[in-house]
Amino acid sequence: MVGCSTNLEVVLGHSHATSGAFAWSVAAATLPLAALTYPVLQSGEARLGPVDVVLGVFLTAGAALLPDADHPKGTIAHVLGPLSYFLCKVISTIAGGHRQATHSFAFVIAAAYGTWAGMHWIGRGFTLALVFFLLALAVRALHLYPPGDGIRSWGTIVVLATAGTFAMDHWISDRPAWLPFCVGLGAFAHLIGDCLTDRGCRLFWPFKLRTCLPIIERTGNKVETWILTPLFAVATLGVLWHVFTTTP
Ligand SMILES: [Zn+2]
Repeated sequence: MVGCSTNLEVVLGHSHATSGAFAWSVAAATLPLAALTYPVLQSGEARLGPVDVVLGVFLTAGAALLPDADHPKGTIAHVLGPLSYFLCKVISTIAGGHRQATHSFAFVIAAAYGTWAGMHWIGRGFTLALVFFLLALAVRALHLYPPGDGIRSWGTIVVLATAGTFAMDHWISDRPAWLPFCVGLGAFAHLIGDCLTDRGCRLFWPFKLRTCLPIIERTGNKVETWILTPLFAVATLGVLWHVFTTTP
């Protein structure tokens, strides 16, 4: 739709994170392995293993925050303290401000291929660094830390993400074939969420057209916190349960 407004209407971080997790669980349950492992194109087994599906839930939740790296005042700017704030400022400048380049199909493709390239050329070091960063984003989005933007907050995020990375280190392969899709899907889920507000996104960046389908008219924080987010979380668990009970 053309004629999106310029209101700064926001979708909350936890809605993005839980919708990303839900999108991944549905994709893992329904898509063929060739799609989930694009562009690595792994075949052989019929489906992803249960461990990969669960790891993917957490990582897609984090990846669903990535497009907001263009927003120095957004959820993810303080995820790693001054370092991430500085990075967000740089990305915001390059991207041309909030909801511009990083809220486009081009960004989704760049995120997925960037993940693939990093895994391919750098290997396990890249994979674990990305896991750490995505877990930090998920922790931040789901508010699993003391409130505020100070060191007490981001210090807790760093500790939790580090612990999560050590745990995943045990399970994750050097180059998980599903990780590029997982990162791209998270970013894509974010775009859908933002397009449902009346400000929309420039999906076809660098073209000027703004796309919005404002079916969520000012849902308000309460609806998102108490209805949407729990619904996505429960639906994700439901799909996971289905995957595990039907996987031989
Ligand atoms: Zn956004």
